[in-house]
Amino acid sequence: MDEEVSGSPQRDRRKMIRYLATQGITDKSVLDAMLRIPRHLFIANALWDQAYADHPLPIEQNQTISQPYIVALMTQALQIQKSDRVLEIGTGSGYQTAILAELAGRVYTIERFPQLSQQACKLLGAASYTNIDYRVGDGTLGWPEEISFEKIIVTAAAPEVPAPLLTQLADGGRMVLPVGGRQLQMLLLIQRENQEFIREELCACSFLPLIGKEGWREELHSTTM
Ligand code: SAH
Repeated sequence: MDEEVSGSPQRDRRKMIRYLATQGITDKSVLDAMLRIPRHLFIANALWDQAYADHPLPIEQNQTISQPYIVALMTQALQIQKSDRVLEIGTGSGYQTAILAELAGRVYTIERFPQLSQQACKLLGAASYTNIDYRVGDGTLGWPEEISFEKIIVTAAAPEVPAPLLTQLADGGRMVLPVGGRQLQMLLLIQRENQEFIREELCACSFLPLIGKEGWREELHSTTM
């Protein structure tokens, strides 16, 4: 991707990668992808000085770009292979999408806000990613054509695992998502073996709500739990 500022973003990115490595992110392919991708280009210029600090930052539509550590942890847990089809729910800024596109064969990403989806599509298109399909809609229902995915990542939190996503997870597949209350959730890794879904708890986390038929209802948006 084109970086208008030379020098310092790269240095900051290297520092971020060194930090992530001390936090248990050991998958080199994940660290390398995050070293390559200029996170600052996914946020407003006014926030560029914070682009490589380990916290979430605001994007448009009152949403956020996730914290780098959580992005790295979720990506690492997926163990993405070059042949994988990955379904992402919550395109947002497109930062996580770029990381997935670096590692996977093809990425299918769904966002409920058309403006965010269009912006991400424009940015990632300009960066020459050609293995990403974008959809605007309710990602809790999965990908409309119901193909199955080796990997699924949900970057907003639901009260329960959306059933259509379990159906669309391929046998042997892995899904990572936050599940719990409106403020605080548990990051889950779900592995499918035949008809069995094995759950593992990764860590406590705090994501914005997944709004949709199999998630939270929009009118409850400003209340807690
Ligand atoms: N991965 C993004 C995170 C964005 S925050 C990033 O790092 O930039 C979560 C995103 O999920 C928001 O953009 C929000 O609009 C989106 N979202 C919430 N509910 C959704 C749903 N049912 N379907 C698709 N996207 C949804």
